[in-house]
Order: sequence, then C-alpha cells, then structure tokens
Amino acid sequence: MHDVVIVGAGLAGLCCARELTRHGQSCLIVEATDRVGGRVRTNIVDGFRIDRGFQVLLTSYPEARAVLDLDALQLHEFLPGALVRYGGKFHELTDPWRRPMAALKSLGSPIGTLADKLRVADFRGKVLRGPLGECFEAPETSTLADLREAGFTPSMIERFFRPFLGGIFLDPRLETSNRMLRFVFRMFSQGPATLPAQGMEAIPRQLADRLPPGTVRLQAPVASLRADGVTLASGELIPARSVVVATEGPAAARLLATLPSAPHPGPHHDEVATSGQGVTCLSFAAARGPVQQPILVLNGEGTGPINNLCVPTAVAPSYGPGDRSLVSVTVLGVGHEPTRLEHDVREQLVAWYGSAPREWRLLQVDRIPYALPRQAPPALAVAERSVRWLSGVYLCGDHRDTASIQGAMVSGRRAAEALLEDRP
Ligand SMILES: Cc1cc2nc3c(=O)[nH]c(=O)nc-3n(C[C@H](O)[C@H](O)[C@H](O)COP(=O)(O)OP(=O)(O)OC[C@H]3O[C@@H](n4cnc5c(N)ncnc54)[C@H](O)[C@@H]3O)c2cc1C
Repeated sequence: MHDVVIVGAGLAGLCCARELTRHGQSCLIVEATDRVGGRVRTNIVDGFRIDRGFQVLLTSYPEARAVLDLDALQLHEFLPGALVRYGGKFHELTDPWRRPMAALKSLGSPIGTLADKLRVADFRGKVLRGPLGECFEAPETSTLADLREAGFTPSMIERFFRPFLGGIFLDPRLETSNRMLRFVFRMFSQGPATLPAQGMEAIPRQLADRLPPGTVRLQAPVASLRADGVTLASGELIPARSVVVATEGPAAARLLATLPSAPHPGPHHDEVATSGQGVTCLSFAAARGPVQQPILVLNGEGTGPINNLCVPTAVAPSYGPGDRSLVSVTVLGVGHEPTRLEHDVREQLVAWYGSAPREWRLLQVDRIPYALPRQAPPALAVAERSVRWLSGVYLCGDHRDTASIQGAMVSGRRAAEALLEDRP
C-alpha cells in the first residue's frame, strides 16, 4: 500500500509528490489524461511547438526558483514591456521599472502620460516593499479599483493595463483581486517572462522525470474518494494511508462530494472555488512573423477579438521548424463561433499588418473553458487557503493559492507539509 495517493499530475500534484518523496513517503500519482502537466501542455503540430494557450514562466516566481532546474529548461526571455496597438499604429511601451533608460523613448507615446509612467515606478516601489506576503495584505478590492486608486489615467488603464493584465488574468473587466495585481506586478518587476526551449510542458516533465520511477500512473481517472484510498473509473481500488486531491477546482469539488460524509470536517474546511476564466488561442504558421522582436503585442484599441499576440519563434526559435514563424493570438473567453472567430481575427490582423495574414496557415485553435480559477474578491481574502480537508484527505491546486504556476507549485508543497506534520 502506498503512503499517499495523489489525484492529478499537474504542477500541484507533481510538486506535492516531490516534497513527499523527499521525506521518504511512497507516493502514487493517478492522472486522468495521457500525460503529466495538466494545464501546462505543449503539442507538436507540423514542426511547431504549440503551448495549450499562451503562457509564460516568470523567473521571479520564488517556488519555481527553489524547485526547478531553470538552466536545464533553457529559458528564452521576452523583452519587458509591450508593443501597444492604438490609433492605427504600434507604440513601444518599454518597461519603465526594469529598463528605465529605454523607457524615456516611450514618454512621448499616447499610451499613458508622463505622470502615469512615474506612477508605475511608484506602484512598483509599493509592491516591492517588504516580503512577498505583503502583496496579500493590502485591503482587498478589484484590480481596476486599485489602478484607479493609484491615480492611473483612463488612457493608461484602457490602452495598457486592460489588455496586459486582462491577458494575464483572462479577465477583460479587471475584476480580479488587487492582491493578484500586486503579486503579478512584483513578479514582473523582478524578472523576465520566459519560454522554455522545448515548450512550457518541459516544466512539468522536468518535475515528473525527477520523481522515483513508477510514481505516475497515466490514463487512470479517479471516480471517487474513500477515506482509505481512491476508486478509479475502471472500478479498481487504490488503497493508501492518505489522499491528496490535486485536480483543478471544479474536479476537486466533484471528487470531494463523493467522500462518505464526515461528521467532523477539519477546522480550516472551506469551500472549493469552481468558477473559472476561459480563453481561446489561435496558432498560425507565417512565412515571416509580424514582429521580429521577442515582445508581447497588445490591443489597446478596445475593439476586435484579439487581446494580445506574440511570435513564440521570435522568443525561442526552437518553437518552430526554422523556415517559418509561429504566431500565437489570444482571444479572451470561449463563446465565439469558430469560423466567425477565425475570420474576424484574420481581418484584425490584416488591418494591423497588411495582407500577409491572409496567407498564414491556421495550425490549431485551443479553446480552454477553465484556464484559471476566477479570483475576484474575496478569492484572495485568505491568500493561502487550507490544504487540509478531512483527516487523511488533503487538497492542492492553483485554486488554493494564486491562479498561477507559482500558486500551483506552492499549494503542492503546502499540502505535503501539512500531511507530514499530521503524521503521527
Ligand atoms: C491558457 C493558460 C494560460 C496561463 N498563463 C499562465 C502564465 O502565463 N503564468 C502562470 O504563472 N500561470 C499561467 N496559467 C496558469 C497555470 O498554468 C495553472 O495555474 C497551473 O498549471 C495549475 O496547475 P494545477 O496543478 O493546480 O492544476 P492542473 O494543471 O489543472 O492539474 C490538474 C490535473 O488533475 C487531473 N485530473 C482532473 N480530474 C481528475 C480525475 N478525476 N482523476 C485523475 N486526474 C484528474 C487533470 O487531468 C490535470 O492533469 C495559465 C493557464 C492557462 C490554461
């Protein structure tokens, strides 16, 4: 019998297993799909590496720094800042907190005023002060309210923050908790956004490869939980002394409901958030990318389906076969009619870049209804939600911390630590 069975081989489950095996516990991760990584996955299509939805690793994430071998991931950096489409042109907004000299160049651009740029520096000072935990101590409100409170002009909010943060939180209304805003601001201020040479899936693969052989069992969906293990959809019972549920929030809520009702829930028992933010990502092969720099392009015009785009092959050439560029377009939400969406995206690209996008080949459309847990207040009222559910049953995943790679990884470690602490 295993000491611990972990349900789900996303970053949270993998980090939980890492910590437990380091402390001599025998673990089995049972994963529903055919590979590890959960929401971090990379498909190879026609020689291109296509991440399932555009995402990046911030090298400033403390847990990633502590746990991952970043050198082995061969990270390629984005330039800080962005190219913002506004008023029929692209304006480079260099990152004033990490490249202050270059930022002078963008002072005359219509994306925010000089005062806005100084406010960015001021806000940065605020979020960098003290330990990371202080970002989660500000009175909780929405991102939009916090930006307004900080004095940013509507132009800076609409042309830069809304597409930039909306693209990170997958939340165009900026209803996400300001504690998340402060956390993300701090992370962007402390290190670059990067892509691993082999695609984002290299991150969970590295974690899985460093676990003892046989720790992960794939294509083994769990149907229900028991106090003494889990039952797979096949009917097989996997006994274990403890269970860790490391699935995304909605799956966790479903599984926890299968537990025989327990009369004495743990002291920190709270509900599992199940609502999420969705996103659609279109990947195109282009003879030549619309931008040659490793930079994010933002739609600051507030019209059209595109929120942001980038050329991953301009960041990491290993994302493509060498003779063509990969263009990754992000559209917030998932409710679009597919043919109409492709047409509208191409029309917007043509308006931005001329006729070339008409020739780009659509490689893949990733429609991801649950990409991130929704984190509008009071989601982060408690920054670290309890990972203890019932005696012997633990919980981790990005819905217990911040909706991010950092949050998922931390939650996995926290669940392992709680379990080790509870063991007699
Ligand atoms: C499009 C997109 C963009 C993102 N951008 C960023 C970004 O730029 N930066 C950042 O930091 N974060 C980003 N994120 C968030 C980050 O990827 C997630 O927060 C993190 O990967 C969540 O990991 P997790 O382990 O909590 O959950 P998951 O990755 O969802 O893992 C849960 C696992 O449980 C498995 N499972 C579910 N039900 C069962 C069952 N019944 N039996 C067995 N297994 C089961 C699932 O198959 C899955 O493998 C993004 C996410 C998406 C989707």
